[in-house]
Amino acid sequence: MVRKNKNQDIERVGSILARLGARAGTMYAVLSQKNMFGTRASPTLCRDIYLQINGHPSPSGQLPSNDKWYFENGFRIIRSSRLLYLAWLWRDHGISQAYIRSMLACEPVDENGGPPGQIVSADRAWYLISHMLPSMVMATRMKNITPHIRLLACRSCGNPTIARPDNRIMTCPACSNKKDVDK
Ligand SMILES: [Zn+2]
Repeated sequence: MVRKNKNQDIERVGSILARLGARAGTMYAVLSQKNMFGTRASPTLCRDIYLQINGHPSPSGQLPSNDKWYFENGFRIIRSSRLLYLAWLWRDHGISQAYIRSMLACEPVDENGGPPGQIVSADRAWYLISHMLPSMVMATRMKNITPHIRLLACRSCGNPTIARPDNRIMTCPACSNKKDVDK
């Protein structure tokens, strides 16, 4: 049996992440999660992959860390809800796999470049999924845990929608817009 080259796996998945626009810091976080590969990516390798795919160095600066951003308009709420819900469905595969599958379902990439006009960037999607998914999984086991962002079914259409801990009932942006139009 031929052993698979683990670095090759890292480079392959890293290239997908770079096409999705994930910065080197996010790429490193995704690729160094437990259960992702038998070996870990290095920050240097992640920067190299980013440069190779995008033709310019990975932008520096802070990675996202703001929960409020996801709630600031209807487009963000709908896209964030979809990303988090898909990751939730794939939660048994681990955070990294759930994230990559969820991103690719929302933002398919082709060989010619990344998807245009992402509503939630690859970095923001990683923040959302890596911070909220584990606490959502814990919350189903232990009642005293409340994630900062979780999913509630829209009371009108039933679609899973991101919600704050103090939200008890949710109406998704699509349904609340419809209500405004019907008035
Ligand atoms: Zn709805």
